[in-house]
Amino acid sequence: MDKETFDAYVKAGNIAAQARDYGKSLIKVGASLLEVTEAVEKKILELGGDFAFPPQISLNDIAAHYCAGPEDDTKFKQGDIAKLDVGVHINGFVGDTAVTVVLSDDEELKKLEEASREALNAALKIIKPGVTLSEIGAAIHAEITKRGFAPIRNLSGHGLAQFVIHDSPSVPNFDTGSNEELVEDQVIAIEPFASTGAGIIYESSNPTIFSISGKKPVRSTMTREVLKDLEQFNGLPFALRWIVKTHGEGKTKFALRELRTKGILKEYAPLPDKAHGLVSQAEHTVIVRDEPVITTKID
Ligand code: MN
Ligand code: MN
Repeated sequence: MDKETFDAYVKAGNIAAQARDYGKSLIKVGASLLEVTEAVEKKILELGGDFAFPPQISLNDIAAHYCAGPEDDTKFKQGDIAKLDVGVHINGFVGDTAVTVVLSDDEELKKLEEASREALNAALKIIKPGVTLSEIGAAIHAEITKRGFAPIRNLSGHGLAQFVIHDSPSVPNFDTGSNEELVEDQVIAIEPFASTGAGIIYESSNPTIFSISGKKPVRSTMTREVLKDLEQFNGLPFALRWIVKTHGEGKTKFALRELRTKGILKEYAPLPDKAHGLVSQAEHTVIVRDEPVITTKID
């Protein structure tokens, strides 16, 4: 990895971490989910980062991919467990990080938060070139199950590459038996999820996050204008809200519909636990070395 790439990863990770911690401090009973999301966005831009994907705040049984829509009026309530997931890029090099906030004194919920956090720590402790995906999965699984929860098996960490947020390898949250080894300078996100429910998520409906994959000619002027604007994301996910702000709701929905029928619109619907158990998540981005560099950690 050249110095320029390394520095970009470190800078992206640091900005993501600052935005994550800032957002975490704003998540309080009565605060608006949309306002916190927009405050995190503003912070990322102020710090000189670009969005690797829209900041997401997923509540309770939703593990991931909930992003406040244009008129979202959700407020945090007592008893909520919130996952804030932030992605920043510098020149396409990504820092991806998440934290869980428990708005309750309930011991079980605190333990659920601890489970994903300690699972992440256990995985980070063994990261180095040569460690297998199976060993990482086993370390995560052990921390979560010993507290009586289920790791989410069909969500996983992932490799990162320039303008690619879900590259190989897939970093499992349980022992898959994979003998694939991590290699020097590989960049990966590790993200254990702990659930009080099934430990399996499904794709629900009403996505507010999308990305464009591939190119197809489009007929209508409206869709062409929106698509031209979407090129700025270089294939990375964007929020419905951002596009509505520029183009208005009618035009945006029309364009997204056409892009969907063309097969070049990727949709990221909220991901609830199958049994609607409560879910916690923790995530860091790390450059694999004998002394791993956790880019999204602030000391
Ligand atoms: Mn993430
Ligand atoms: Mn991730």
